[in-house]
Amino acid sequence: MRSNANTIEKILKNASNVGTDACWEWQLSKNKKGYGSVTYHYKAWRVHRLVYTLMVGPVADNLVIDHICRNHACINPAHLEPVTPRENLMRGKTRAAENAAKTHCKYGHELSGDNLVIKSRGNRACRICVRRQTNEWHKKHENILRHRRRERDRRNGIPERKKSSLSPEKAEANRARLKKYRERNREDLNRRRREYYYRTRAQRLESSTQESERIHAFL
Ligand SMILES: [Zn+2]
Ligand SMILES: [Zn+2]
Repeated sequence: MRSNANTIEKILKNASNVGTDACWEWQLSKNKKGYGSVTYHYKAWRVHRLVYTLMVGPVADNLVIDHICRNHACINPAHLEPVTPRENLMRGKTRAAENAAKTHCKYGHELSGDNLVIKSRGNRACRICVRRQTNEWHKKHENILRHRRRERDRRNGIPERKKSSLSPEKAEANRARLKKYRERNREDLNRRRREYYYRTRAQRLESSTQESERIHAFL
């Protein structure tokens, strides 16, 4: 959700470390890339671009704002610099080259063999850390995930799951069996998941297009 603001003071209230040399961290929700956004006088803005515009001056439409500190959630104008998209790309390539030269993740796990994951954009990641982050994410969003699962089940007419009447030992044994099954059939299960993903993709794309059309019609 995007927050509303009509003065720079109100915007800065939602960041930490404001007034210091450190990164002014945006505290409200951020998108996948870590950027925050706000509505300012009925127009949607990336927060860092808005703060730069209000505190330093207008940014030409053909320029993008680069985070010198690389922290996308940062809105400290001293860490921001308007550059041409080309310059931004070059800087990104330098960073990509730096990343490509890494042999270990920042927690010291080796980036090779089974522990090396190639992400969809070609960047490399540490499997141990990705797994840990995924677990943390699920832990953190446990409640909302459960809520969504229930809502989805209700929509699809699936009766509510009953609380298990098994003894803790039996339940644990069942979980272990399921885990083993998943490990043994990992390839097959992954293939089915992929197939489902592609089968339902068109439908998802269509509904997201409709959604954005609705929003644009509203604006
Ligand atoms: Zn910063
Ligand atoms: Zn790691």
